[in-house]
Amino acid sequence: MTNTDTADVEATARQVHDLAEAGSELVRVTVNTPAAAAAVPEIVERLGDAGLDVPIVGDFHYNGHVLLRDFPECARALAKYRINPGNVGIGQRDDRNFQTIVGIARDNGKPVRIGVNWGSLDQALVTRLMDENAARAEPKDARGVILEAMVRSALDSVAVAESCGLPENAVILSAKVSQVQDLIDVYRELSRRTDCPLHLGLTEAGMGRRGTVRSAAALAVLLQEGIGDTIRVSLTPEPGGDRAEEVRVARDILQSLDLRRFAPAVTACPGCGRTTSTLFQEMAADIDAYLERQMPVWKSRYPGVEDLRVAVMGCVVNGPGESKHADIGISLPGTGEEPKAPVYVDSRLMTTLKGESIVAEFTAIVDDYVKRRFAGNRLD
Ligand code: SF4
Repeated sequence: MTNTDTADVEATARQVHDLAEAGSELVRVTVNTPAAAAAVPEIVERLGDAGLDVPIVGDFHYNGHVLLRDFPECARALAKYRINPGNVGIGQRDDRNFQTIVGIARDNGKPVRIGVNWGSLDQALVTRLMDENAARAEPKDARGVILEAMVRSALDSVAVAESCGLPENAVILSAKVSQVQDLIDVYRELSRRTDCPLHLGLTEAGMGRRGTVRSAAALAVLLQEGIGDTIRVSLTPEPGGDRAEEVRVARDILQSLDLRRFAPAVTACPGCGRTTSTLFQEMAADIDAYLERQMPVWKSRYPGVEDLRVAVMGCVVNGPGESKHADIGISLPGTGEEPKAPVYVDSRLMTTLKGESIVAEFTAIVDDYVKRRFAGNRLD
């Protein structure tokens, strides 16, 4: 999701471009004001002119019914509308605002993501469920009632959407919470009670390492159980930090679980007392960076290259074995070993590198291997 002011066409189009380049397959933008709604068609047009057909999802709160009604070009340009039943009026005085949005989606052939959020649950629903729970012989704890309220809010919204003519497969559900165990529980329950596609994400996961680990822990459990159709990792960037980092984390989660492959994998050992220098760490980082730099070109030129496995190991203890399991592997010399680095290609010893230019020579071997193995996969 972008964090630019959507009314700023230039900045938003650029950030969408960066997110898509990093691998995002759909990008959400805030649509919170008339200026933002007016900017959406131009943003989509600019992306199209740049050859990017990444779907743009509009994120609406409170006034989505007004903006979508008053800016029909925006409604047409967006690929999906994301709304939060807790702040769009459903279940309160009446469902008219929600119905307006769903009606516009139906008329434009667009799906709607109904995103229930722990922080903005419909309080009338929560109060009703709390009262019902208190009257039970064996009441649930407050957490159980809140999670049930989230599930119920999502399912009630689906029922209203369907009654407005939106087909079930045009409704995507999400239930955002910020605690790992809550996320797992609420999605297990949702997947048990609906066939709607589910969008996963731990909201407000936090910054850096902590946000990455918490997101990976939560999403991995659910994805492993076959729950989830789209995912988002919500990381708070450092000031001036790279917004696209959350996209890379999301891809790494999917690739780690072998659900999708996006880029060649580099296996590197952690190093230990047998390694005398940081050479192998630098080399693993250099190879990783090299592969990432090449991917924008390689992915169109060499289909299947994302399946490549490269190993960079620190000594002979596990080096040759791990190298043989990879497509290409190098085993650097550890303490007391001869200063040479055997290179294995397709499980066979291909050469032994020595001296200052090991990185450059190994990179050339990887490059050559990619060309030989994957060039034949091109369709044109
Ligand atoms: S491969 Fe060698 S250097 Fe790397 S962790 Fe194992 S023993 Fe240590």
